[in-house]
Amino acid sequence: MLSKQPVWGSFDRLQSRNTMTFEEELKTTRHPLIDGHTHVDQYSPDELEGLLERARLANVGLIIAAGTTVSSCENTLALAESHSFIKAGIGLHPADLTGPLDDATAEHLHDLATHAEVVEWSECGLDYMPHSPDKAVQQDALRIQIRMARDLGLPLVIHSREADPDTVRILNEEHAGDVGGAWHYFGGSMELAKQAMDIGFYVSLAKPLLREEPLQAVAAQLPLDRLVIETDSYPQPFKKNPLRRTEPWHLPQVAEKLAELQGVDIETVAEVTTANYLRMLGGRVELG
Ligand SMILES: [Zn+2]
Repeated sequence: MLSKQPVWGSFDRLQSRNTMTFEEELKTTRHPLIDGHTHVDQYSPDELEGLLERARLANVGLIIAAGTTVSSCENTLALAESHSFIKAGIGLHPADLTGPLDDATAEHLHDLATHAEVVEWSECGLDYMPHSPDKAVQQDALRIQIRMARDLGLPLVIHSREADPDTVRILNEEHAGDVGGAWHYFGGSMELAKQAMDIGFYVSLAKPLLREEPLQAVAAQLPLDRLVIETDSYPQPFKKNPLRRTEPWHLPQVAEKLAELQGVDIETVAEVTTANYLRMLGGRVELG
């Protein structure tokens, strides 16, 4: 049975107004899952302890905390140092760039990324949504980060929104395939998935898989040994029902949907996607 620790207090009170309880919604797998992309550094320490407790109950065996700014990279590293369950990614999110990536900042990121708790270059990429930073600034920052990841031998976790042709072109031009990585929060076509896999990248699926039919059709055809899963969790206080706030404990729901689409059982998805992620990390991590 689930323990009722203090970290559950406010969560239980909030959920009592809902029809489903956490215990009823919780899914789990016997084989541990890896949540390959989150922003768990953005939670308060109290919120984080509750989140990690719920993740453990869902048998999430490892959570990667992706940096988005210099200060968030420092935070992800601090979290990884204090939680054996969390490893860090270092990187600058394209939408968070405040100007060109200068040498001093790049050097600082490179130093952070040499730490043993840093297992990937994450997250970086291109984001061409309105009001995003200048495209040339984003592209230069991405190229510099790919070069640093290659220098350090770290896999890259790539963000691409409204920018897929440029993302694919730059990954190719900068030989990102030398280190590989994952195409985070994948939501594209079969054609794009093939381009990502041809470069040597895994396709990372998240909760849109639960609802988006075109993505389900693509995911059904992709080879399971090139897929990983993630939640991209970040604080979502705007969602009144705490059960709907995306957290790592939702990861088995993604695994279950992928299993259904692929016509295999959920344990196969758990085992293969976890093995894929560990392979992508090049043996830097072993699950305890
Ligand atoms: Zn992210």
